[in-house]
Amino acid sequence: MDSLAKLSLLAPEMGLEPAEESRLAPPFAARIPAPGSPVGFSTGAEGAAPCGHSPLELRRAFDRSAAITAAGTTPDILTRGAPDPASSLERKKSSLGVHHAAMPGGQKMALLKTLLTSACERDCYYCPFRAHRNFRRATFKPDEMAAVFTQLAQSRVADGLFLSSGVAGGGVRTQDRLIDTIDILRRKHAFQGYVHLKLMPGLERDQVYRSMQLADRVSINLEAPNTARLGKLAPGKVFLEELLQPLKWADEIRRTELPRGTQHGRWPSTVTQFVVGAVGEDDLEILTTSAYLISQLRLQRVYYSAFSPVTDTPLEDHAPENPWREHRLYQASFLLRDYGFDLEDLPFTPAGRLPLEVDPKRGWADLNLRHTPIELNRADRPSLLRVPGIGPKSADQIITARRQGRLRDLGDLQRLGINASRAAPYILLAGRQPAYQAHLF
Ligand code: SF4
Repeated sequence: MDSLAKLSLLAPEMGLEPAEESRLAPPFAARIPAPGSPVGFSTGAEGAAPCGHSPLELRRAFDRSAAITAAGTTPDILTRGAPDPASSLERKKSSLGVHHAAMPGGQKMALLKTLLTSACERDCYYCPFRAHRNFRRATFKPDEMAAVFTQLAQSRVADGLFLSSGVAGGGVRTQDRLIDTIDILRRKHAFQGYVHLKLMPGLERDQVYRSMQLADRVSINLEAPNTARLGKLAPGKVFLEELLQPLKWADEIRRTELPRGTQHGRWPSTVTQFVVGAVGEDDLEILTTSAYLISQLRLQRVYYSAFSPVTDTPLEDHAPENPWREHRLYQASFLLRDYGFDLEDLPFTPAGRLPLEVDPKRGWADLNLRHTPIELNRADRPSLLRVPGIGPKSADQIITARRQGRLRDLGDLQRLGINASRAAPYILLAGRQPAYQAHLF
């Protein structure tokens, strides 16, 4: 099989991995009518979905997933961040595993997401590449992978590489081959562009270090929030030693070592991913671990992937998770990371779940700000960040604008680019609550 044929063989399942940063401000229709939706959602006038999927995409993904599952075939996955694949070039790219990713700062990138091998010796219950699943596998040698990616990069089909692998011969040996691949790509083919390199379970600290020298981002998926849950999802993996420890090493390396020999003179970012909804975990469990990863291990981002069953796996009869749950987890995660929220601020139900029908920031504001609105002319930055419709950038804009004069009405906020109607129920301007149209909420 030639190299492009191997990429095509691997491509269909690679969408299961999230594609870097998501689109942050798509102009999608934010207001889906609640009637007829699977759980009667209101978008909460949230605008951009922080997880990168519009509410409409989420609805479609849920419907599609449920329909295909009902038909007894492998459910589809979200097409994350992909443009309309109308052109034959886009179809060709997609067939090879090239996904469109939006990077920090809004830069768009055609990212080849692929595996060094889909032959895996492990048997994770959710995974299409598990050892006991019957399908045709593909394996690259490091120089072969480096060469085919260079070919795609030179022909402008792909700008960046996301490289993972099934585990073959243990995590250490597999990581050696991943490192060899990127080493060849960097040295022999002089590729300077973006590389996201996966860390294999059970790898060694030196391999984390070398991977961090070569890549722009490294990651290892925890998949579950703790040892007990992982045991039901991937019994062959060891949560603390195999999965969490590499993330600890990455943080320790970033804190204690100078970024010598790195690609761009700085250490890469670190991310992880959870599978959501396969083994009965609640949102409190997931977000407790997320909060630790963000605050203690300084992960740039935690990804959440609503479970979709894969045929010929132990979980094939398990219902797909509602993508809205994934969406609420992203929102809560950003509140923890960027908005100064603590876990106890989040509006968990007694069952430890975030309500699906309202975004968690608005849920907090309804409980805490409806009767004690915040005066925007005096509030400090952390208080401003508690107001729905005000993010880190708009909080800074408010603070700057206040130096020029008082904010008096919603028009002053709109001129700053703030979603004034969303903020209105929770604020005072010059001592008065601004008038707003309640039906918008
Ligand atoms: S180790 Fe990775 S590739 Fe192998 S079965 Fe588990 S999740 Fe899949």
